[in-house]
Amino acid sequence: MERMDAIFSPESVAVLGASTTPGKVGHDIFQNILRGGYKGTLYPVNPRAKSIQCIKAYPSLLDISDPVDLAIIILPPAIALEAVKDCVEKGVKGIVIVSAGFKEVGGEGLEIENRIVDICDKAVIRIVGPNCLGVINPHRDIRLNASFSARMPREGNISFISQSGALCTAVLDFAADRGFGFSKFISIGNKADVDELDLLRYLHQDLHTEVIMIYMEELKRAGQEFIDVAKEITSGERPTPILVIKSGRTAAGAQAAASHTGALAGTEGLYDAIFDEGGIIRVDSVIELFDYANAFACKKIPAGNKIAIVTNAGGPGIVATDVTVTSGLELAVLGEETVEVLASHLPPTANLHNPVDVIGDASQDRYENALNAVIRDENVHCALVILTPQSMTNAIGTAEVIVKIAKKSPKPIVCCFMGVVDVSAGVKHLQENNIPVYKFPESAARALGKLYTATKWLNRQRLAQFELKHDKECAAKIIKSCLKKGQTYLGEFEGLDLLKCYGFNTLPTRLAENENQAVAISKEMGYPVVMKIVSSQIIHKSDAGGVMVGMKDENEVKAAFSKIIENTKNYNPDAVIDGVLIQEVAASGREVILGMNRYKDHGPLLMFGLGGVFVELFKDVVFRLAPIGRNNARRMVRSIRSFPLLNGFRGKPKTDLEAIHKHLVSLSHLVIDHPEIKELDINPLLVHPEGKGATVADVRIILDEPDSNS
Ligand code: ADP
Ligand code: MG
Repeated sequence: MERMDAIFSPESVAVLGASTTPGKVGHDIFQNILRGGYKGTLYPVNPRAKSIQCIKAYPSLLDISDPVDLAIIILPPAIALEAVKDCVEKGVKGIVIVSAGFKEVGGEGLEIENRIVDICDKAVIRIVGPNCLGVINPHRDIRLNASFSARMPREGNISFISQSGALCTAVLDFAADRGFGFSKFISIGNKADVDELDLLRYLHQDLHTEVIMIYMEELKRAGQEFIDVAKEITSGERPTPILVIKSGRTAAGAQAAASHTGALAGTEGLYDAIFDEGGIIRVDSVIELFDYANAFACKKIPAGNKIAIVTNAGGPGIVATDVTVTSGLELAVLGEETVEVLASHLPPTANLHNPVDVIGDASQDRYENALNAVIRDENVHCALVILTPQSMTNAIGTAEVIVKIAKKSPKPIVCCFMGVVDVSAGVKHLQENNIPVYKFPESAARALGKLYTATKWLNRQRLAQFELKHDKECAAKIIKSCLKKGQTYLGEFEGLDLLKCYGFNTLPTRLAENENQAVAISKEMGYPVVMKIVSSQIIHKSDAGGVMVGMKDENEVKAAFSKIIENTKNYNPDAVIDGVLIQEVAASGREVILGMNRYKDHGPLLMFGLGGVFVELFKDVVFRLAPIGRNNARRMVRSIRSFPLLNGFRGKPKTDLEAIHKHLVSLSHLVIDHPEIKELDINPLLVHPEGKGATVADVRIILDEPDSNS
């Protein structure tokens, strides 16, 4: 931890590669530290200059007689490597390498980067970068702007970690306009050493950081470790919200497509899972990142989801109401006393019910009385104040009364001051007093919605875990014997047997090689039966016309047998057909899918969603990294769009949700216990009405030697 302090709060900084030429990075960064009013001691290092911006320059780091905490290196890779060696000799504690030309260009650059990491690792020096914009700490005792942005942001409680340097400068510019205050600001570039995980841990300890924003392209270390750290930060001892914008929502392709899970997961499913499990709020745009960070920076979250809106204009009040509802909030029903108070203060034309309309000619008094009344109402958990500039409007006066009330109330109050010029003084006053203020009512309502998301996350209930017993050995035996035969695809026979070892209910299923066998088996099993093609070339059997349900007698079975063979041959003339399986018809139920796809460095990614043959059409699925317990399983099930369908929709019986939760946890155990399972689809799992369990109707498992994946 002390080493990371050297990066953000050094007592002395040396700039290696400080330059006398304006416009060069080595010049500008040095100048930014100088002009930013850095509180420590600054040393320019340059063998060819006597001084840099009138400060005595040192030919080498080793010529500085006092200790140096932090070295900023702005030198080409080969020279940077030598500079790093000097840093070790000098005993510096932290290094920021700003220059590019390392791993991102490959070849020699990559080699040098690796050598630098090795050297620093041995010397226990932390490195930020290379290929980054630098670090900023605006705290009044430090005032370090070691970046190539000339702008030193205002001191505040939001920390920002960015993988893109260019975005950082834009963000700083934007932040200045919104009076945004930062605690720590860091561009991590290639992440040769310090990465998101280190910074999350560090910022969680940092008492000046109360909101963390991240711009992320990809995570170097993700998986369970990242989730655990994020979860502790977002809901542990000192909950700190984490907001992430992750680029590449659409670009990522699937890793493998032999299963529905593989086709649907992709890296986006993986990241969504990591964020969901860690309680991280994912946003889609930089503007949202700011909007929400602003709201969280006021450090109040609503106790519930009831909102009061106070507005001087009808239209924006309605827009806000609409967004409120889609953001998970509800308009509060104001108490009798509140309405009485409002009536006494407001003109007869005013609307005394939510959204409270104080009418276009409202001065700050009316706002003050109305906001005071609604915020004291016990049915209200948060408030949104909307102001549009009209003839009697006093933006600054209104801002002042809002600040006064907000200071006394534990409930979050956010504002929407519409417009730019007329309301600017009021907006500025609100910003200076850390009251979130937006230009549009929808942004304000959405931000409140996010605060409520945090409330729900923090107050989530925890159910006791299931006690499940599995036959791990029996499963291992099946897997071993398949791999021994060189069989990596497990269908309805071995696949179902494997699932049985982990408590899944399966249906009697047998192979018929000809019509007569089909009839004999069906008779034994009892009509009606289901018939399906068995061929290792046919992955999705229905696509080939290879599934027929509900054959009721001998003639139907015979007809179905030849039809299934014919369909399959038409679909794929090269398919090797093993025969047709005869299966009992499952009791009726809702079709869901349970799946898993394994990701390198991250682990097994579980999927749950609406199942059946249209999985990829509706894409109503959710992901989690295994292992999961009962609570995560329950949250997965509740989070798909079709959840109401499972929960008893329009008079339909409620399905056995607990059975789904149990099976998801069992699946998690199965894939953790057996790393040979590379991909898996249970589709459909038929979920019967409450108390009646669930039945596997189809399964597809792909095995791999354990070393080549996981
Ligand atoms: P595939 O996924 O390879 O196309 P499935 O075995 O999943 O084939 O069968 C397709 C559909 O047929 C299932 O989604 C389900 O609706 C129905 N089905 C399959 N097996 C049964 C069964 N034993 N009982 C009832 N319906 C079944
Ligand atoms: Mg299927």
